[in-house]
Amino acid sequence: MRRSYLDHNATTPLDPEVLAVMTAVLSEDYGNPSSIHWFGQRARAVVEQARESVARLVGARASDVVFTASGTEADNMALCGVCAAAGGRSRRILYAAIEHHAVIHCARSLAEEGWSVAPVRVDGRGRLDLDHLSTCLAEPTALVAVMLANNETGVIQPLDDVVRLAHAKGALVLCDAVQAAGKIEIDTAALGVDLLTLSAHKLYGPKGVGALWIRHGTPLKALVHGGGQERHRRAGTENVAGIAGFGRAASLARERLSADATHLRDLREALDKELLAITGAQRNGEEPRLPNTTNVSFEGVEAESLVLALDLAGVAVASGAACSSGSIEPSHVLRAMRLPPARVRGALRFSLGRHNTTADISQAAVAVREAVARQRTR
Ligand code: PLP
Repeated sequence: MRRSYLDHNATTPLDPEVLAVMTAVLSEDYGNPSSIHWFGQRARAVVEQARESVARLVGARASDVVFTASGTEADNMALCGVCAAAGGRSRRILYAAIEHHAVIHCARSLAEEGWSVAPVRVDGRGRLDLDHLSTCLAEPTALVAVMLANNETGVIQPLDDVVRLAHAKGALVLCDAVQAAGKIEIDTAALGVDLLTLSAHKLYGPKGVGALWIRHGTPLKALVHGGGQERHRRAGTENVAGIAGFGRAASLARERLSADATHLRDLREALDKELLAITGAQRNGEEPRLPNTTNVSFEGVEAESLVLALDLAGVAVASGAACSSGSIEPSHVLRAMRLPPARVRGALRFSLGRHNTTADISQAAVAVREAVARQRTR
């Protein structure tokens, strides 16, 4: 059966060039980067070259990038590390109500330790409510977490305004750029945020590798203690092959950013046109959006059964956040946008990737049209 993979916000396939680099490192560069002999220094060079590439993707200094075991760990490290360093000072954290669970659940766990944590509202278009942020910032705040682009709707958040408002009140800004990286240009200097997180497997790199960029001088306490790896910011022998794959994926993402974005936007516009022509279809989330993502609700259908029907037709899409799939909790992102419950239950996320073609879009359009019609006649 012909299969179309339209779930790239859940994860992406490894780019063949990434696989080649990782295979070579796994078989040849097996030294421990902390060892001072030739084998160790080869592995060290691999890690440091990858750090340069990842830093370059976000316009950062390599020495400010810490490798982690996932985007989730990077988000946790930022939140918990800042809180631990803040000690007795302003014990309050704000986060956008549409953040990934890596941020929301970590904040809730900090709440159990006595931190005051509060979600900041978003509007019906999926963008942070800046007036609400200003109100929330009236109380002394240590950190504000706002993602660069949402994983479910693709909506790009007003980070310039977030940084301006937060910094005016002395709060640090954590930006989860896991979904934005490789899809839109990112420059840490221009963004003005203090911490930024990335994950390799969202940009054609391997799973199980992430990164936290920390603006030089930002107070942050290490969470993992042991050897002095990552300049004492995260102990543990480095995942050298994974890091090498991340580095190659970051270089490719940078080289292909503009070509990928044009390709993805063209395909996504064609898909949007087809989907929105279906009676009772409504798009969730408004521009500015990532070029690869669209989220559409189909009146009178349950997204979970639609995902299964589409899978049988060879089309892979998602309902709600991929990272929490398996649970049928309605999407916290769409609920935060205060969409009616039926619209939330009928929402599908289509996230396109570098290797998708117009044939994938046509297959998806036909499959969705047929599956929606079938479910409505049940
Ligand atoms: N942040 C966002 C916005 C995400 O979409 C994801 C994964 O879907 C993560 C963080 C977690 O990244 P990882 O899968 O590397 O733990």
